[in-house]
This record gives sequence, C-alpha cells and structure tokens, in this order.
Amino acid sequence: KSHLWDSIWLAGQRDQAPGTIFDKIVAKEIPATIVKEDRHILAFKDINPLAPAHVLVIPKDRNGLTNLRKASAEHRDILGRLLVAGGEIANDSGLGFGDGARFVINDGPDGGQEVYHLHLHVIGGQKLGSMC
Ligand code: 5GP
Repeated sequence: KSHLWDSIWLAGQRDQAPGTIFDKIVAKEIPATIVKEDRHILAFKDINPLAPAHVLVIPKDRNGLTNLRKASAEHRDILGRLLVAGGEIANDSGLGFGDGARFVINDGPDGGQEVYHLHLHVIGGQKLGSMC
C-alpha cells in the first residue's frame, strides 16, 4: 500500500461511532441558536438550559472526539480552540453571562454524557452552587 492509501484507510478507521444530532446542527439541517462560529468550532445555546446562560461549544469535525477520553496529541489544537471560544463566550454579557461561568465536559455514562460528539458546556448567568 502507498502512504496515501494508508492515510485514507486510517482516516476511515479513526471514528466509527455513529454521528449525532450535533452533526445535523453543524450542517444546519436542524435549527440552533448559534452564538459563535468559525472554520473549526460551532457554539450554540443548549436546548435545555441548566441556568440563564448555557452554551455548548463543539468541534465542527468530531474527528474521533466522541468524548474527552478519546483525546490524543492530534486533538491539541481543537481542544485549545474549544477552551478559548468558551472563555470568549463567557465574557459576553449579551448572552446573559455575568462575572464568571462554569465550564463542563461530561464524559461517558458515569459522567452523564448524552451526546457523543465532544462538547464544552459554558454555564452561567447566575451564581452557581455545588458541582453535582
Ligand atoms: P451531555 O449530557 O452530553 O454533556 O450534554 C448534551 C447537551 O446537549 C444537553 O445539555 C442537551 O440539552 C443538549 N442538546 C441535546 N440535543 C440538542 C439539540 O438538538 N439542540 C441543542 N441546542 N441542544 C441539544
């Protein structure tokens, strides 16, 4: 096999989990209130907010990141982008955020994860209490 075919084969093996509803939001096939978007990330309001301000930040291309425990060195750039975008969103009083927010990534059944496309929750707009 050539290197090219090896790469194509590896790309096919990398992320075999089924797609999620977030792919449809990225493709604009189902509506969402988008608050930030660039080539790499999409941020939109959570449909079932846990606080007055609740935004989800996702990589547009899941690329194996069903959940954080799948992260490896190749994901460093996108993980940094998610956090930077999350911080910018939490600075936006126009979205209802005040002086601080909570940044959460649920992972797996024990972590309470429901959607297997990595996402950063940015939660705020009120003084938050205990974590769990
Ligand atoms: P998880 O529990 O996986 O960390 O969080 C998934 C989040 O996605 C939940 O807070 C849920 O309300 C949100 N969510 C699920 N489906 C949709 C949807 O179709 N649109 C939007 N905007 N949020 C969704």
